[in-house]
Amino acid sequence: TKVLLTGGSGFIATHILELLVQRGYEIVTTVRSEDKAAKIREAHPNAKLSFVIVPDIAQPDAFDQAVKIPGLDFVLHTASPFHFNWSDAKTELLDPAITGTTSILKAIKKSAPGVKRVVVTSSFVSMISAATLQDPNKVFSESDWNPNTYEDGLKGDKIIAYRVSKTVAERSAWEFVEEEKPNFDLVTINPPLVFGPIVHHLNSLSAINTSNERYVDLIQGKWKDEILPSIGTNFWVDVRDVALAHVAAFEKPDAGGQRFFCVAGKFSNREIAAAARKNFPGLKDKIPSVEVKGGDYPPVVPGYDNTRATEVLGINWINLEKSTVDNITSLLAAGA
Ligand code: NDP
Repeated sequence: TKVLLTGGSGFIATHILELLVQRGYEIVTTVRSEDKAAKIREAHPNAKLSFVIVPDIAQPDAFDQAVKIPGLDFVLHTASPFHFNWSDAKTELLDPAITGTTSILKAIKKSAPGVKRVVVTSSFVSMISAATLQDPNKVFSESDWNPNTYEDGLKGDKIIAYRVSKTVAERSAWEFVEEEKPNFDLVTINPPLVFGPIVHHLNSLSAINTSNERYVDLIQGKWKDEILPSIGTNFWVDVRDVALAHVAAFEKPDAGGQRFFCVAGKFSNREIAAAARKNFPGLKDKIPSVEVKGGDYPPVVPGYDNTRATEVLGINWINLEKSTVDNITSLLAAGA
């Protein structure tokens, strides 16, 4: 069985790749440079693994060559910008997210007739709205959609722009399969904030992925006098469960045609600090003591329903304490 994984150097994709290697799949992955390919190759010397260099997924023909793999069965599309150091929303965020998604679907339809399923990494941000996040009676599930439009992404708010990039990309993918009736069906994986161990051969502390930044702050002592509030939403999931969700999404026939809200639970920065304090007594100069204030839940945190992902994808969610321990262990090994 042959699988194409886009963005193979990313935080989540690194874990997907490890799982694909463990399960013996033949893997082709896209990365932006030969240098990144070399590092991944070195980490998996015995894997059935090859590379296609795709420097910029915002180009409409970015994937035209990458999908021309004889016998390709499944495609996992994870590449999309998840950082806030850009200056032009359209060219640096929205185009890569949205065009990146539509162009790979078009390329598969045109040149990869054997592909049976495409799994797209979407996000919980495609499900939220300002109003629902403030509603104590709301229970988020796969039936929820972010109402933001493309134009909302161009108004200057960087968080909104990221949410729009994921929402419009996912919406475009569902529209594509509905209108084009291609050779494949679609699954989307919609995780909230993803925490968990980094893989050292690729991820450096200076360029830590966005969702793990708070863990670096914690163990570098930035919460020592006050635990920062949790920004955004208070839902999380471990990266290993997100990786498993992507693999189960193509291994399990029943998953076809569905979106999956892959959420392990709620978190506060205060709970993360407590789990760190309990398990890393050697870091007590950096980790806030129990008296330090801050990091509590906001007044309203809505509910969630992860039944579909639990049952269809078969995930036994990793808990926050284990995720915290494994994450901090990985950051210390990387030199934090
Ligand atoms: P990373 O930043 O680690 O990974 C993003 C990947 O996309 C990298 O491989 C990156 O390549 C690639 N990429 C970004 N822009 C381009 C571009 N213009 N051209 C080519 N490649 C590009 O983040 P994550 O692993 O966290 O994110 C992976 C996916 O998961 C994204 O779709 C993200 O939206 C989604 N997601 C992440 C969540 C999280 O909390 N981490 C939560 C919900 C969804 P390079 O590193 O070389 O720039």
